[in-house]
Amino acid sequence: MKIGAPKEVFEGENRVAMTPDSARQLQKLGYDCAIESGAGVAAGFTDAAYKEAGVEVIKTAAALWKQVDIIAKVRQPNATELKRLTADKTLISFFNPAGNEEGMEAAKKSGASVIAMEMVPRISRAQKMDALSSMANIAGYRAVIEAGNNFGRFFTGQITAAGKVPPARVLVVGAGVAGLAAIGTSTSLGAVTYAFDVRPEVAEQVESMGAEFVYLDFEEEQQDGAATGGYASVQSEEFRNAQLAKFREIAPDIDIVITTALIPNRPAPKLWLEDMVAAMKPGSVIVDLAAERGGNVEGTVPDEKVVTDNGVTIIGYTDFPSRMATQSSTLYATNIRHMMADLTPEKDGQVNHDMEDDVIRGATVTHQGEITFPPPPPKVQ
Ligand code: NAD
Repeated sequence: MKIGAPKEVFEGENRVAMTPDSARQLQKLGYDCAIESGAGVAAGFTDAAYKEAGVEVIKTAAALWKQVDIIAKVRQPNATELKRLTADKTLISFFNPAGNEEGMEAAKKSGASVIAMEMVPRISRAQKMDALSSMANIAGYRAVIEAGNNFGRFFTGQITAAGKVPPARVLVVGAGVAGLAAIGTSTSLGAVTYAFDVRPEVAEQVESMGAEFVYLDFEEEQQDGAATGGYASVQSEEFRNAQLAKFREIAPDIDIVITTALIPNRPAPKLWLEDMVAAMKPGSVIVDLAAERGGNVEGTVPDEKVVTDNGVTIIGYTDFPSRMATQSSTLYATNIRHMMADLTPEKDGQVNHDMEDDVIRGATVTHQGEITFPPPPPKVQ
């Protein structure tokens, strides 16, 4: 069978779902590989590099979709792409099954099998296919770099002949995959880093990375806002008030805030309110990684950078992985080729779409003319 990656059509998207290296691995699974001409250029991969890796370069998207059996993509397909799905094809891509009725219906009608990368179950065996985590890691790193780029001072403290420079004080709100990456980047740049999460079990991880966990003045256990299966749930009013009071207290001393707080299937909680933004010093920077889901910060504008009246920069970009397209394409393409390895147990270049396999079943959202989303809970952890 042949697997191919078209050029992404979403405006400003620089990533690509196949790299020369991932293509070499896919060939070891028995597949022929194809790429649309120019698909990798924005991520730093030329047609020549693909050719050298044994990949066929196909001139147009239409020809590529026609010729391949498996399509690997980053962004959910648009209407033109959906029309190219047929019963004999498998699409592997982010697909947003819960919020993409048009796509789900089109895929069902076409008879194609769609594997939605955001649906890969979060079980140990599937970690190597977990594209949400690999992209969140990049977003967390890039959020700190972006903050630094908009911050007029050093991260690390210095004593120089020209004077003493205090270290930047960074607060990371939400210590999931993106938050932990932000904490690691911030501490390695030398900033004094604080982190807060409603899940108390992350405190140890935060501290082991050289950051300080922010505890609340709250009688009951911090447990209150804690997890369901490793995820946060909605907080009680008292807990939320204690959290906001703490943020209000520290806002004047914090130079950079990175917010990453999310609750599955809900809008992002508003945690850094207008008065906290107003209490920050001029020149401070906020990066709201939850911007796409409504934002954790009052004043965030998705996809924009705004400067408030008191000189605080609020960054609401939603395309951090695409801003580091070489790295994100490399990791995403690796996630895809691991998914392909799962789909090809015999390494014979033939897809074996085994709906008894927890990972494949969990991620498959349409199959043989049926909608197979949401999946049943996984059998193994
Ligand atoms: P996420 O993106 O859903 O949320 C980010 C963080 O925000 C979470 O840590 C959450 O607790 C926190 N949060 C929510 N509300 C908050 C609030 N009001 N204040 C402060 N913080 C708040 O999280 P994620 O990065 O997807 O990770 C969630 C969990 O899943 C973690 O336990 C992680 O280790 C786990 N995980 C497991 C696997 C795997 O086993 N394969 C892979 C990835 C993540």
